[in-house]
Amino acid sequence: MSLGEFDLIERYFRPPLKRAVLGGGDDCALIAPTPGRQLAVSTDLLVEGRHFLSTVAPERLGHKALAVNLSDLAACGATPVAFTLSLSLPRADEAFLAPFAQGLLALAERFDIELIGGDTTAGPLTIGITVLGEVPPGQALLRSGAKPGDDLWVSGRLGDARLALEGFRGRVDLAGHDFAAVRMAMEQPEPRVALGQALRGVASAAVDLSDGLLGDLGHVLRRSGVGAAVWLDELPRSPVLASQAEGLQCECLLAGGDDYELLFTAAPARATQVHAASQASGTPVRCIGRIEAAAHGLKVFSQAQGGESLDLRRWSSFDHFRA
Ligand code: ADP
Ligand code: MG
Repeated sequence: MSLGEFDLIERYFRPPLKRAVLGGGDDCALIAPTPGRQLAVSTDLLVEGRHFLSTVAPERLGHKALAVNLSDLAACGATPVAFTLSLSLPRADEAFLAPFAQGLLALAERFDIELIGGDTTAGPLTIGITVLGEVPPGQALLRSGAKPGDDLWVSGRLGDARLALEGFRGRVDLAGHDFAAVRMAMEQPEPRVALGQALRGVASAAVDLSDGLLGDLGHVLRRSGVGAAVWLDELPRSPVLASQAEGLQCECLLAGGDDYELLFTAAPARATQVHAASQASGTPVRCIGRIEAAAHGLKVFSQAQGGESLDLRRWSSFDHFRA
């Protein structure tokens, strides 16, 4: 007999609570926020065929659905508290649900965030998650704080998720172990939550990279009213990406998307504190450029171009309604 809506929720999406006052099962969940903290709230929707391929293993999909939301909390420097899960499912298929819930709840456990409710309906496979986090008042990292003269930093490595996508599309032919490595970046991103928290009071602005470096940096520049110079040769990349053709590397690094690394700015006098935050959180960071006055716009310099700036018109950020 197939599983009903409420059995399904009960079996897979009602983990024991540690902190929330009331989780799923009633009309509302109840949480007791830490007195004096601000709540940070963010939502991300993942649609099959748009945000993930139907070939992805359910366990990895469960991980990724929560990871992309945790990445938004990380960008704000927030501490994760709780999340809700809205699921549209073609079928109540336990062969999908069991590993999906396992991947999702294993990541939740690791970041100490509780599933407190949601909604479940039949329909095309779509996963909507809303995360709640906490920050001390006035200390959330925002996109609007970058100042001319600030260093521009990025965590981890860029471009592997896009390279994996091009592998799936058949545009590049990657050796088996290389494909497996970049596929991990695409399907199992690691949200930089500890780094985000460590950068509170250190970074002047931050954003998480979901739509490609140039596009997401553009959001920071517009919100902050500044320009930037980026050094292409400094962009951190995996050995697999570094072995690809120059043009493809550029595309993956600058316009890749799905990186879920943190891009942030900090006054040069804060560089020691940035390195301390990197050490404390076990997350590599690299200085990749500098914030300039707005009049400079956004320029990307590369040694291969004799130090000239690249023509950026062909690297546009991903836009669901223009793609
Ligand atoms: P209502 O109709 O009152 O909105 P539902 O019948 O949709 O409530 O849901 C019943 C309970 O199950 C609620 O407490 C809801 O939060 C929880 N729930 C529903 N779907 C999920 C899900 N995918 N994950 C976790 N909890 C869920
Ligand atoms: Mg409902």
